[in-house]
Amino acid sequence: MDRVKLLGYEIDRFSFEGALEEGLKLEKEDKVSQVVTINPEMFDCAKVDKEFASILETAEMVIPDGVGVKIGLKILGYNVDRIAGVDYARKMIELSAQNNLPVALIGAKPEVIQKACDNLKSEIEGVNIVYSQDGYFDDEDRVLDELSQSGARLVLVALGSPKQEKFISKAKKIVPFGLMIGVGGSFDVWSGTVERAPEIYQKLGVEWLYRTVKQPERFKRIFPTLPLFIMRVFKEKFITR
Ligand code: UDP
Repeated sequence: MDRVKLLGYEIDRFSFEGALEEGLKLEKEDKVSQVVTINPEMFDCAKVDKEFASILETAEMVIPDGVGVKIGLKILGYNVDRIAGVDYARKMIELSAQNNLPVALIGAKPEVIQKACDNLKSEIEGVNIVYSQDGYFDDEDRVLDELSQSGARLVLVALGSPKQEKFISKAKKIVPFGLMIGVGGSFDVWSGTVERAPEIYQKLGVEWLYRTVKQPERFKRIFPTLPLFIMRVFKEKFITR
């Protein structure tokens, strides 16, 4: 497998198509696999959260979601495709439908997940959603048990990070098989609750810029993270190597 190291964590170098192929292969296997779509905020989180750091180390696939990770790897001399988690997860649902593989969705507000499921059913022929659960539950054991019984092969979890990755890590110990992906705000997009940036922003990998202009309060979230992340990568390249 083609993996490269960034700030101590291995990242997969897949093309979009390659990541889909690998995802489908794992989905069919009789074991559980976890996909993390990584962005600079997650590297920050892993610095202070040991449990999250160990999840990043053991995930079967770690793919670069944000343009920040793509830039970071470029600084180290590696070219990687940025794979937007929301697009990847959507294509994985389509592939699951074509291959008769059942799907589960967990996360987001009740009305959001309901609408997202309705839209997916009407837009993707043959999709088989065997389990759906909103993301505001108290009894995690019940959800894990129901997920286990559902027989889902593709499990999309939208609880925000690191909550979704930790939920998947627990599920891995209980659920017998399936490909589990943390998908952040994807259900909000599929339900039509949140609009995606125009295509030009998506193509350039700067959806965050569009969202920041639209919601200036996001600036606080992005601003120290991205430049500090780039500085850490430069430090790794020139000082610690
Ligand atoms: N969410 C949830 N349960 C929670 C917290 C968040 O289901 O306890 C959902 C939230 O409704 C949204 C998704 O997680 O649909 C992503 O949240 P956010 O935008 O904060 O995450 P990000 O994509 O920025 O990591």
